Amino acid sequence: MQDRILKRAVYAEALIPFYLLVEPDSATLFELHGGDYEPIATSDPLCTKAVHPRGRVRGMDFDSPHLPRRTFLRGAAGVAVAGGAGLLLAKAAEAQTAPRIYSCAEWGARPPADALTTLDHPANRILIHHIASANSTDYSLAHAFQVARDDQHDHMDNNGWSDTGQHFTVSRGGYRLEGRHGSLDALRGRTTMIQGAHCPGQNTNAIGIENEGTYTSVEPPEAQWASLVVFCAYICRQYGISPDEIKGHRDFYNTECPGDRLYAKLPQLRDEVRASM
Ligand SMILES: [Zn+2]
Repeated sequence: MQDRILKRAVYAEALIPFYLLVEPDSATLFELHGGDYEPIATSDPLCTKAVHPRGRVRGMDFDSPHLPRRTFLRGAAGVAVAGGAGLLLAKAAEAQTAPRIYSCAEWGARPPADALTTLDHPANRILIHHIASANSTDYSLAHAFQVARDDQHDHMDNNGWSDTGQHFTVSRGGYRLEGRHGSLDALRGRTTMIQGAHCPGQNTNAIGIENEGTYTSVEPPEAQWASLVVFCAYICRQYGISPDEIKGHRDFYNTECPGDRLYAKLPQLRDEVRASM
């Protein structure tokens, strides 16, 4: 490990903090989520822009004194660093380009109360929501899992729905989670979607993303925003959705969701997603 160069890097174009492990023939990128480092597949388009195939780094600002080395090394353990000629990009399978999304099984979802409907077509829009929950300062993965469970309980027990209403959730720490069962497999497969329960009139065509928090008077934290950008870009790529079709819940329903401050940022979200694709 001693010959590896560890650097914190901010890739300005995407506004996403990356952490790099650079070796003679390769480099591995990590995203920081609430204190944990998660590897980004090196075939991710963002990596394509950020890291030279030989492991040299372009277009990035370094801040290595602030790198929490021990945490980084723990995050690096078990990661298969691209080897050989150090090719970082190109022909990786689609699954390897996907951002980390925690499945219902991983966060301990209850089974759906009723059979869910798989629609035989891809989604053509993304709707952005806020949960209207507390703006927690617990950015941990454990908290993100609890948010997902609480949301599912609320939707099933208080709303009487079959399962979590939305397809996906983003925590304030930047963790991405599956909401409604089957949504992740459908997204990976690209040709179907699970019928949602997040916005009347849009549930058979729009992917719903709930953001933990309340954004009527404050903006989402940076980690959540950066994660949302990556997530929306992936969904747009998978389903062939134009970033122009990233909308707010209030665009299709009489609601204040996703809050004035998050709603005001949707043009920026569309721009950043477009730049990330
Ligand atoms: Zn909403």
